[in-house]
Amino acid sequence: MIQDIYPHHLDNQFRNKEIEDEDYVVLFHGLNVCMSKNWKLPTYKEVKQFGFELQYACATDGQAYYVTRKEVDPIKLDGYTYVAKQAFRQSLTPEDRAFWLTILTCWHIYKWYSMHQFCGHCGKELVHAEKERMMYCPECKSMFFPTIAPCVIVGLVNKDKILMSKYAGRAYGGFALLAGFIEVGETPEQAVAREVMEEVGLKVKNIRYYKSQPWGTDCNMLLGFYCDLDGDDAIHIDQNELSMAGWYGRDDINIQDIGITLTYEMMTYFKEHPEEF
Ligand SMILES: [Zn+2]
Repeated sequence: MIQDIYPHHLDNQFRNKEIEDEDYVVLFHGLNVCMSKNWKLPTYKEVKQFGFELQYACATDGQAYYVTRKEVDPIKLDGYTYVAKQAFRQSLTPEDRAFWLTILTCWHIYKWYSMHQFCGHCGKELVHAEKERMMYCPECKSMFFPTIAPCVIVGLVNKDKILMSKYAGRAYGGFALLAGFIEVGETPEQAVAREVMEEVGLKVKNIRYYKSQPWGTDCNMLLGFYCDLDGDDAIHIDQNELSMAGWYGRDDINIQDIGITLTYEMMTYFKEHPEEF
């Protein structure tokens, strides 16, 4: 998965660090990120002429990365262009994954800052805390910490078949597993049962946790679960959410897992480990 970057290491800890010439600057515009065609980011030395206010985001293998706290105009700089952040889906090596995991982590941090410029309670401009990643209001003292939206991904198993689906009305047209946000006051396991009932009208049992995945591109935390069908296997899809859903045997799972998404890993794990289901 994209977070499997060993022997590389992403250090997410907040630091109140002065920016230096060789630090990287991650500039987003729309859904694109400024880099060279062969995936190299500009350094502070190269972009300081633009005068952006920059914020420390994270470090990978000791190299620091900075972001802006709100969207800035695209820059024109020799050797650099704007690449769709969806290019992370082409990552094939641990080096690629380490790079794109860093970019997506920067994206998540940048999106959070851009949506926390003003106090949601009283409207005053927020100020950054000195020692942690937190924005606070000098007027009403409200504190805002980074927001991560937790979601469940569900591998619903019916003997030697798994339920695969396709989303309605999304750019991604490939197979997916059922997924959804965890509601306030709900356990992840309750979210699994609720999402399956809502999206395909089926009951589940034997819900068991598999693995998690930070999914910075949508500011989510994905929690993967397998569960077994409980009772009737007739699917009734929610057409607002899904264009189709069906039961697929191991030989019908024809996806190529290049090691990015939890969804593909879970489909592949089901296909390759019949002894565990
Ligand atoms: Zn306030």
